[in-house]
Amino acid sequence: MPTIALNNGVEIPQLGFGVYQVPPEDTADVVGQALQVGYRHIDTAEMYGNEKGVGEAIARSGIDRGEIFVTSKLNNGFHRRDDALRAFDRTLADLGTDHLDLFLIHWPLPGIDVDFVETWKAMEEIYAGGRAKAIGVSNFTASHLGRLLAETQVRPAVNQIEVHPYLAQDELRAFDAEHEIVTEAWSPIAQGKVLDDPAIVAIAERLERTPAQVVLRWHVQRGDVVFPKSTSRKRMEENFALFDFELGTSDMAALTGLDRGERTGPDPDTFNYIPR
Ligand code: NAD
Repeated sequence: MPTIALNNGVEIPQLGFGVYQVPPEDTADVVGQALQVGYRHIDTAEMYGNEKGVGEAIARSGIDRGEIFVTSKLNNGFHRRDDALRAFDRTLADLGTDHLDLFLIHWPLPGIDVDFVETWKAMEEIYAGGRAKAIGVSNFTASHLGRLLAETQVRPAVNQIEVHPYLAQDELRAFDAEHEIVTEAWSPIAQGKVLDDPAIVAIAERLERTPAQVVLRWHVQRGDVVFPKSTSRKRMEENFALFDFELGTSDMAALTGLDRGERTGPDPDTFNYIPR
């Protein structure tokens, strides 16, 4: 499994397993299966309500905690400093761990009454305490990131954003790269929406791979981190088998050429939702 070095030297496995929309009661079993398949990087969030299940799976697996890279995210209702510090403690307790490998601000929420710069300063405190090995952001635009770079000390290690062939995000990915911020691509197969695209199907047929494998391989070759989600063991195995084939230059370009600026999720500039 290839790893990518973050800007503080921490290594992240390039392929992980995402647990968005995995029901809490199924999460221990689903993540347990993903660990059996070989995934060693789990992407969860307080917002998903399934951190306990992730923790249970890790504990039951018998795999050394140090061999599993665990990411979680600060939920939208906890952007004030004190709330953020408490939320981080709860996340550790729910995951049953003494540290996170990566902790992210889930959404910038530019329209709420707490400035995300305050939130990032709380993240810096958490990082200084040593219980998050790296800190980063999610759904930040270049303009949001620009404020952090100008007004705070610690540079985000990653920016986790929506990326797939219908939303290639090349400008923001270039901005991230220029500032030594690793891009993580969420909804890497657009929750399945890109899989019956005729161009993708044709490449998959020619290479005798599945459309999901072709799209995930495109992400890997672009250098982004990905963590597809599936509750089916067969698909977990399929999505894990990405390192024994390669896409040529013209196939890479064909996939990137499908970009039509189409989001499956909210727009970070206008999304200000706080769960109650
Ligand atoms: P995804 O692009 O990984 O698609 C998942 C869906 O595609 C599954 O529900 C399944 O039905 C289908 N699928 C999976 N593998 C398949 C295969 N091989 N063949 C056919 N269909 C397949 O979507 P996602 O879950 O939204 O994104 C992945 C992860 O990204 C999430 O689990 C979460 O960890 C993260 N995420 C983060 C944010 C954020 O705001 N930071 C938002 C959304 C997702």
